[in-house]
Amino acid sequence: METVDILIIGQGPAGLSAAIYTARAGMRTRILGCAPKVAGDYDIDNYFGFVDTISGKELIERGCQQAAKFGAQLHCDRVLGIHQDERGFFIAKTEENEIEAHALILATGVSRIRPGIANLADYEGKGVSYCVSCDGFFMRGKPVLVIGEGNFAANQALELLQYTQQVSLCTQGKETSMTQDFLDRLRENNIPVRMQAVQTLEGAPSLERVVFTDGTTLEAQGLFIAMGQASSSDFAYTLGLVRNGQFIETDRDQRTNVPGVFAAGDCVGRFMQISVAVGEGALAGKAAISHVKEARRTLTNSTAKT
Ligand SMILES: Cc1cc2nc3c(=O)[nH]c(=O)nc-3n(C[C@H](O)[C@H](O)[C@H](O)COP(=O)(O)OP(=O)(O)OC[C@H]3O[C@@H](n4cnc5c(N)ncnc54)[C@H](O)[C@@H]3O)c2cc1C
Repeated sequence: METVDILIIGQGPAGLSAAIYTARAGMRTRILGCAPKVAGDYDIDNYFGFVDTISGKELIERGCQQAAKFGAQLHCDRVLGIHQDERGFFIAKTEENEIEAHALILATGVSRIRPGIANLADYEGKGVSYCVSCDGFFMRGKPVLVIGEGNFAANQALELLQYTQQVSLCTQGKETSMTQDFLDRLRENNIPVRMQAVQTLEGAPSLERVVFTDGTTLEAQGLFIAMGQASSSDFAYTLGLVRNGQFIETDRDQRTNVPGVFAAGDCVGRFMQISVAVGEGALAGKAAISHVKEARRTLTNSTAKT
């Protein structure tokens, strides 16, 4: 496992701006995430300093180069899940690696994909969940279904095996985008992968079964939504962050309610613009630097006393 001072999830304007500050301050900084949506062939007309417009692609490329120049390590890798261990470190499991960090900056934008199940909201808290590490325990020995087509869903399904052996996965009608390694692990663990889409949910007072679009049913007392890649909401659930809907609540310095975790940009849900993301990223970077320095001071003092 690699250790860094500050782990930033998101290579958009917020994450890159944060990294410029943290790396420049000498913090070992890792930024995970791939090209954000705005890094396409879009003209950005309203970002300070570019009179003749700049493309989103060029702006993000410049941001990456600037962060790298100060020593930030950029890597196109997706985070599947994060937890905090007993020492207070944040451990991120990615598609390729595991990384531990003293501080975490969430800059993942907004990306939650909804599965399009008509009465999903009626069963939230009654079997429908977005967080295996929060709700998997309540599903001990019960049949559960994970909805999602990628590595995030596969990882959630495998994590559920700690609680129950009756795990299925459904891609909601999409092609699977899992790596062969995840497909192999699902097969080895007898987790069937269905390509059908769930249309509606049934059961009273809580979930008992799902009904697919072809009319067939599957017994499921737990339904875990894990479509696309893990989003800020998913990380918020597992880390216990206070949210406002799908957005993460922060104070004016971009601190969340969990010490050591900061959030910036669209995932905070203020004015969703590049200029705001860049500003919030800078604040989050500054606050994360202070957090790491304070943690080091505490460690040095406690070592000196022993
Ligand atoms: C097409 C388009 C045009 C736009 N035009 C303008 C404009 O002209 N002016 C303007 O000010 N704003 C514009 N915006 C809005 C602007 O792009 C956003 O407000 C800004 O990009 C938000 O930055 P962010 O860093 O918060 O998130 P994003 O830019 O969305 O970046 C999110 C990052 O998180 C990463 N990520 C997400 N989940 C994971 C995971 N599980 N593991 C690892 N990484 C993850 C992604 O790969 C990405 O790198 C536009 C947006 C779009 C989509």
